[in-house]
Amino acid sequence: MEDCIIVGAGPAGLTAAIYLARFHLSIRLFDCGSSRAALIPRTNNHAGYPEGVAGTELLRLMLAQAERFGAVRETLEVKRIEPLSEGFAVHAGERTFPARAVLLATGVVNHRPDAIDDATHDAALKAGLLRYCPICDAYEVTDKRIGVIGTGDHGMREALFLRGYSADVTLIAPGAEHRLDADCRGQLDAAGIARIDGPCGDFRIEGERISVGTANGRMSFDTIYPALGSRIRSGLAVAAGARASADGCLEVDDHQRTSVPGLFAAGDVVKGLDQISHAMGEAGVAATTIRNMLAEQRPLWR
Ligand SMILES: Cc1cc2nc3c(=O)[nH]c(=O)nc-3n(C[C@H](O)[C@H](O)[C@H](O)COP(=O)(O)OP(=O)(O)OC[C@H]3O[C@@H](n4cnc5c(N)ncnc54)[C@H](O)[C@@H]3O)c2cc1C
Repeated sequence: MEDCIIVGAGPAGLTAAIYLARFHLSIRLFDCGSSRAALIPRTNNHAGYPEGVAGTELLRLMLAQAERFGAVRETLEVKRIEPLSEGFAVHAGERTFPARAVLLATGVVNHRPDAIDDATHDAALKAGLLRYCPICDAYEVTDKRIGVIGTGDHGMREALFLRGYSADVTLIAPGAEHRLDADCRGQLDAAGIARIDGPCGDFRIEGERISVGTANGRMSFDTIYPALGSRIRSGLAVAAGARASADGCLEVDDHQRTSVPGLFAAGDVVKGLDQISHAMGEAGVAATTIRNMLAEQRPLWR
């Protein structure tokens, strides 16, 4: 039986792997290779990298650090986490792995605009013409022409946040028409944010800009932020009995414990700020709590 199985090798899972391996615990680290961090062309808000760092490079360095202490990243999708009277059975690939504790660090997946093909999407993301995280990178588009694809309260809040970076922000409805109540419309008007009906589609990269078809014809921007929400990859924990918010984010206590004893969660999959630093911090707390929980069950003396 492993001391702990970590599901997910993004910033949260890799941080936990470093801590747990250095606590001399036996761990397995399963991952299916879709970290959101791998989509970051260059992060400039992650402390310690004055010139910024590509997400893939950060993941490579973190994995190398975890491997230095004996952790091994196994490319395997976890299908089910089954709570037992003592510990868990983790079903991954064709096998079942017993563990005394499980840490879920499976992250989230951003919803993309419907009408964009993969090649255009990936090229636009790489060039900074398409962005998903204003907290992370709106600084880079200060005083630029910004489009936000979204509507309702969520679209409004993202557009208002970006108004702190540029006076030129346009909120484009993903579907045919905006769904904005009088209060939303009032707040957008007060901030001078233009509203354009959709449906938006036919995205094109045009030199250093991105253009999109709207009800008002083709519009061109320095960058576009889709504000379309995310799919929270919390299904494994919810199926095991863990409590989640209405949108699927896992609820944890101050020590990253879910409502299922022995099942922990860290990173984007947990309700809270979706940032690398936060994912790492939560993983450090989870790993230390796991270590102390296991030590209460039996001494971890050498
Ligand atoms: C375009 C973009 C730019 C960003 N820029 C920044 C930035 O500049 N600064 C910043 O702080 N944050 C940034 N972020 C956010 C940052 O990427 C996330 O907050 C961070 O990656 C969260 O880490 P995580 O470990 O929780 O999840 P993730 O990094 O998403 O890792 C989750 C891992 O779990 C694995 N997994 C999921 N389900 C299973 C399963 N069933 N079995 C096995 N493995 C599984 C996945 O394959 C994945 O590797 C950005 C995000 C995007 C999309």
